Amino acid sequence: MNQAIKAQCKVCGIFVPVDQFKLHYKYKKMVCPNCFSGKTEKAEEKKRVETPAKPPGWDQEDEYLQKMVRLRNKEEKEKAQFTKIPGTEQVRCKCNNCKFSFKYDPFRKSPRTCPYCNEDIPRLKTFNLL
Ligand SMILES: [Zn+2]
Ligand SMILES: [Zn+2]
Repeated sequence: MNQAIKAQCKVCGIFVPVDQFKLHYKYKKMVCPNCFSGKTEKAEEKKRVETPAKPPGWDQEDEYLQKMVRLRNKEEKEKAQFTKIPGTEQVRCKCNNCKFSFKYDPFRKSPRTCPYCNEDIPRLKTFNLL
């Protein structure tokens, strides 16, 4: 396979071979095939959070959007921390600190800390999981 020279898409931030860039009528700049087809339009906000460098044309509105996305992501992360293990009364807990995932007993509240990094496990409020 040829090692194509890659460039970063200014819109979504991914790296694609330069020969795949196309001029987008709306963005008025060269974009990757995904952006050209409109696929990344909705995912755009998310991508921006992952990309540390602020894209050109960054403004107050983007700042606001980024904040909202960050907030939403945080909520999702906290919700996703406990997942039910089907057929058991236990849940799988994912440590926020080290991302280690382990079995957690919500009734005995055990273990109390992450077995891997010893980080305290936040109380499981979502008993409707069970
Ligand atoms: Zn793109
Ligand atoms: Zn941990």
